[in-house]
Amino acid sequence: MKLTVFHCRQCGTVHFPARYRCPHCGAADWEEQVTEAGTVEETTVVRHRLGAQPGEDVHLATVRTTAGPVVIARLDGAVHPGDAVSLELDDAMRILARA
Ligand SMILES: [Zn+2]
Repeated sequence: MKLTVFHCRQCGTVHFPARYRCPHCGAADWEEQVTEAGTVEETTVVRHRLGAQPGEDVHLATVRTTAGPVVIARLDGAVHPGDAVSLELDDAMRILARA
């Protein structure tokens, strides 16, 4: 599925995730925008999850979407800060980033 961000029609700022009112101007007038790509800002590895098996480390990245907001995405493969990635949602509505 595609990742959607929320563009405020009043002031033009773009937010993710959805909010009831725009934190910038207070309006509740949103336009949904699909964003399919971004740039990796930072990566991290979560190694100590409860119940995780060895080798089940979760690789995460903060990704600046082309629409503006920064999202946290699970990584499919090795990426590094500055890399361009594609973004989508999996069945559990988690954001996936692919190099
Ligand atoms: Zn606004």
